[in-house]
Amino acid sequence: MSETKLFDSVVVGGGPAGYTAALYASRASLSTLVLERGMPGGQIATSDLIDNYPGIPNLSGAELGQRMADHAQQAGALLEYGSVSHISRSSEGIFDIVTDVDTYKARSVIVATGATPRTAGFAGEETFRGRGVSYCATCDGMFYKDKQVFVIGGGNSACEEAIYLSNIAREVQIVLRRDEFRASRGMVNRVLACKNTSVRYLTSISEISGETFISSITFKNNETGTLNIEEFDPGSVGIFVATGHTPETELVRDLVELDHDGSVIVDDSMATRIPGLFCAGDMRSGSLRQVITAAADGAIAGVSAYKYVEQTLGLSL
Ligand code: NAP
Repeated sequence: MSETKLFDSVVVGGGPAGYTAALYASRASLSTLVLERGMPGGQIATSDLIDNYPGIPNLSGAELGQRMADHAQQAGALLEYGSVSHISRSSEGIFDIVTDVDTYKARSVIVATGATPRTAGFAGEETFRGRGVSYCATCDGMFYKDKQVFVIGGGNSACEEAIYLSNIAREVQIVLRRDEFRASRGMVNRVLACKNTSVRYLTSISEISGETFISSITFKNNETGTLNIEEFDPGSVGIFVATGHTPETELVRDLVELDHDGSVIVDDSMATRIPGLFCAGDMRSGSLRQVITAAADGAIAGVSAYKYVEQTLGLSL
């Protein structure tokens, strides 16, 4: 870009929230730019199968992400690649969005940078991601119908994942690194009441191996340090890592209000405390972290950006 163009809205992040925000903002006649640093789709781009987006079963995350990118562009949004390093707002209400290659100006900004699941850190975790290792029971639980699953973590998320999986899998074992849960007492009671669910206290998974699918898991007793290798039929076992998520809020951390878990506090219109700055999707407080809810957040943010630009600044068209 040779000269800095002023957009009505710049969307940071090309996941379901970002592309849906761009779709709605563009359709509302805002000049809209999406800045994406990697493959379209964000977190879903690494999912082999998205099976819970209504009306579109059996689609890979990469394909769904690409379709969302195409759809936003068909509606008029521009897409540029670049990693955003800084966002600031002048006293006149114009935002500067700085990337590794350029600086863009915008009347409104929608940040939709998502959240990253925390890994558990065992050997083989990355290799078997999507082939036995999952970070989302709601997304992948159905692939483990009547199979055995392990849930790593002892927080409220891990308990929710275990309860959800207990209705699908044959057997659920929670792998807890300490001798107590971090989750609330009520949640722990609920998980312990599930008939097919048990807990391995003071245990970590240190390694998984296999060919295409997991066939062996090495458990470590954290009290004694003893390692125990257990064998499984390939494809018969799943590991759900539920050790928390890190909301990707670095770009807006100094501008907005953060919740105790580091996510961005927004109101019902996805507005932050900075006029013209909206946050949507998995990075915002209270998100269900599903494709459909990220997309819904994006729709709200896109319309909110339109209302903000139209009412406070006037459209540039
Ligand atoms: P969390 O509360 O931070 O719990 C993370 C759990 O994972 C802890 O048990 C932790 O163990 C364990 N862990 C972390 N790293 C690990 C590793 N490398 N290997 C094995 N275990 C590891 O995260 P969360 O459960 O996602 O919850 C995040 C926030 O959202 C919390 O405030 C939670 O209350 C809230 N939340 C609420 C609800 C609800 O109310 N329905 C549902 C979900 C989440 P240690 O305890 O040993 O550190």
